[in-house]
Amino acid sequence: MNFKEIIEEIYHKVKNIDSKGEVASYIPELATVDAESFGIYISTLDQNNFGIGNWQDKFSIQSIAKVLSLVLAYRMVGEKIWTRLGVEPSGNPFNSLTQLEVDNGIPRNPFINAGAIVICDILISHLENPKEDFLAFVRSISNNTALNYSYAVAESEKEIGFRNIALCNFIKSFGNIENEPSEVLNFYFDLCSLEMNCQQLSEAFLFLANNGRRTIDNIAILTKSQSKRINALMQTCGFYDESGEFAFKVGLPGKSGVGGGIIAVHPNQYTIAVWSPKLNKKGNSYKGMRFLEDFTTKSELSIF
Ligand code: GLN
Repeated sequence: MNFKEIIEEIYHKVKNIDSKGEVASYIPELATVDAESFGIYISTLDQNNFGIGNWQDKFSIQSIAKVLSLVLAYRMVGEKIWTRLGVEPSGNPFNSLTQLEVDNGIPRNPFINAGAIVICDILISHLENPKEDFLAFVRSISNNTALNYSYAVAESEKEIGFRNIALCNFIKSFGNIENEPSEVLNFYFDLCSLEMNCQQLSEAFLFLANNGRRTIDNIAILTKSQSKRINALMQTCGFYDESGEFAFKVGLPGKSGVGGGIIAVHPNQYTIAVWSPKLNKKGNSYKGMRFLEDFTTKSELSIF
């Protein structure tokens, strides 16, 4: 398959369309990004890798980090993790409070903010130095010691994170947060501030295309069954109340972040990272979704 040709063609087409989206500005530091940035990188299991556009520029991966924190917690806790949160699509915005009340403080899934906050609580209970240990885990699955948090983005979100503060306290009131809310939230804001470029992002997720095994040495990050489940969750919940649309148009497990990044995984084939900061109304990258829709259509490589 000649990915290079297909990616180049779609990249030039999508780059020139008028993006209707808006850069996330509710986290002030995210608004400082160049809104016209557009990068793509594909990593394949047979080393047919290729990048175009701003694929070497680092960006804030935001909610994409929720997959990696879930992976670490799932590794440590196993199946009993699902007593603390569900595996159903929420059909609601990522920062919704109303559903939590109905669900008695058990978040619908690990990718809405409430679910990711519970995962942070679980990690704090199990790790000696959560911030450092999580970063070490991300570096190890990526085989890249250069990866880091952005202090500026984390601090910026800490100053305006009132909704997440409300979510965390609300969950605590139902007894589903063990630790101090301020500690849980600081860790949540730190992990959302992780930065990667498109190449690093596609490499970090490659184990999910490889049945849970790191590609460089075949070491298991997750069991085959756990890896299947993480991909299933990305497919059904990775784009919040636009997950159905992403499955319908793109047809791959994926995860978005308000920094404008999207990672998509084709099990047994490849991972592809796209970055374009302008977001649609549901908080997902406008051009990122457009690119991936054309990419899986033209390459005929989706899971459906
Ligand atoms: N840090 C962001 C928030 O909590 C993450 C949201 C996202 O990327 N969808 O609002």
